[in-house]
Amino acid sequence: MLLRSAGYCENPNCAGQPEDCTDVGDPILEIDHIHDLARGGPDDPSQMIALYPSCHAIKTRGRTREELRQVLFVVARHRHDALSEPWMTAAASLGPAGGQFDGERGVTCRTAAAGDGP
Ligand SMILES: [Zn+2]
Repeated sequence: MLLRSAGYCENPNCAGQPEDCTDVGDPILEIDHIHDLARGGPDDPSQMIALYPSCHAIKTRGRTREELRQVLFVVARHRHDALSEPWMTAAASLGPAGGQFDGERGVTCRTAAAGDGP
């Protein structure tokens, strides 16, 4: 799962990653079932997606969640199939799902935020 996402959120409309990372320096990603397991979604990698928490919140509670769900379903299916192809060996070659990242805004992992002001 995390291999396929290559550390990126798989939402094509992603607004960018959170300005922080985990203790070990990994991006903060949440694995989500596109179709809720509780609602009978299959527990299969092609039906799952890696999302930044902000995108996960949209997918769960946002007004556009149904729209996003459809998009993510197609993205997950496509990327899962692509990785299954014999000539596609590295997940990293897929890069960010959205391709909307501007390199300028690369996130630098901050060490414990010292006194976040108002
Ligand atoms: Zn995202």
